[in-house]
Amino acid sequence: MKKVDAIVIGGGIASWVLALRLSKLKGLKRILIITSDHFHNASINNQSWLQSGCLYNFDIKKEREVARLCIEHGKKLLDITNRRFEFESGTGIMAVKNEEEAAKRIQFLKEIGHMKYPDFMLKPEEVHNLLGEFSKSKNFNDETRFIWTPDQPFPEGELLRNCEEAFLSSSVHRERIVADAALYPSNKTKNGYVVRANGVDYDTKKLFVIAGINTPNLLMPLGIDGLIDVTARRCVLLKADIRTDLKVAIYMDKVNNTNINIVKNKNGDNVYLFGDGLYTEVEDINNIELKRQVTDEEVQRFISNYCDENKYPQLERKLSPFFKDIRNFNVCYKVENQSYLPWIYNMGELTENTYKNLHVAGAGKATLAFYVAEKLIYNAGLDSTKYSGEENAIIKDLSLIAHWSEC
Ligand SMILES: Cc1cc2nc3c(=O)[nH]c(=O)nc-3n(C[C@H](O)[C@H](O)[C@H](O)COP(=O)(O)OP(=O)(O)OC[C@H]3O[C@@H](n4cnc5c(N)ncnc54)[C@H](O)[C@@H]3O)c2cc1C
Repeated sequence: MKKVDAIVIGGGIASWVLALRLSKLKGLKRILIITSDHFHNASINNQSWLQSGCLYNFDIKKEREVARLCIEHGKKLLDITNRRFEFESGTGIMAVKNEEEAAKRIQFLKEIGHMKYPDFMLKPEEVHNLLGEFSKSKNFNDETRFIWTPDQPFPEGELLRNCEEAFLSSSVHRERIVADAALYPSNKTKNGYVVRANGVDYDTKKLFVIAGINTPNLLMPLGIDGLIDVTARRCVLLKADIRTDLKVAIYMDKVNNTNINIVKNKNGDNVYLFGDGLYTEVEDINNIELKRQVTDEEVQRFISNYCDENKYPQLERKLSPFFKDIRNFNVCYKVENQSYLPWIYNMGELTENTYKNLHVAGAGKATLAFYVAEKLIYNAGLDSTKYSGEENAIIKDLSLIAHWSEC
């Protein structure tokens, strides 16, 4: 059995940001991250959208909290890439059904204090100019309002690589193991379990399980999968490199229940990601198909959601070639708790110390990965003030990395 100071299981954004943060802590000498290619990884199949929080329902207290976390911690996440969070000017546009809805969001942005420019509300000529064909929906009327928000695409693929490179280049022992990790009960360790990867058993002082939708399966051999309360939704994205006259990077249409964001592919070209406003609830989280293929029904739903005659009928002609090839669809799962907050558990507390030093988490949204890492470090009793200097990852060779997530 090998002894280490900390193990992170999972290769998504929450794991890599945590691994990077752990690698800066003074006390931890040997840290492993165990990642697998066999399971769903939401972080490289998502919309690469740094959420400002404006999407949430401000009438619900918990959702307001989510919104605040997004705006505070999204900025810290972007700091890892040494990029600036564009708060001073709006980067996204949101269509809402009336003045009241617009006012709630504008008030939130003012309370947060980051938006310095005075005109949150778009003028009619700006709407037409910036949204082009997306401003012509028949579902819009005199009541409809369009507001600026600081939502923005972010380079998630780059961020993951930054974290990995910085983690592995540390002078002390940091290791990445590619394996399907498993947990087993053990009376040979003080924690009551071992981590097994590639046939080797590990006894770790701290264990962080951040394995996305596979997390309940991983906890099953310890009999504690039922202790985490999460739900999953199957989500579909359509990627298409169409020509449109949309001039903002993110457009959220709350009237038509659609959203579009523009990301860059590896060649630096624009790719439009069309989000699905209609999700399928997962009935049995322990039985998820590993194959990620869009169904005919999902494609039909997409077509009616974007090409309905009251929405953007002119899109049909442009999108139909993309609908025909299922490789243009990304299928993955959002794993959340009921309030859309990240889910973070100290299993030691829940199992009355049968299993010690076991921390389980999921980001809920990539935007909150930094928040999750901070919380886990705090919950594990690791002093996050004892950092060994440099906070951010340094990108060594930009040519090696894709700019955006590899959708
Ligand atoms: C379609 C879609 C669009 C989204 N868009 C956005 C967005 O625009 N903005 C946003 O903020 N959020 C978005 N989200 C949510 C966001 O992507 C997720 O909340 C986030 O990526 C979850 O990160 P994670 O690290 O917790 O889990 P994941 O990214 O799912 O990573 C889990 C990792 O664990 C690994 N793993 C599993 N089991 C094992 C094992 N036994 N051994 C080793 N490794 C294992 C998997 O291979 C995977 O790498 C979206 C989600 C989806 C599905």
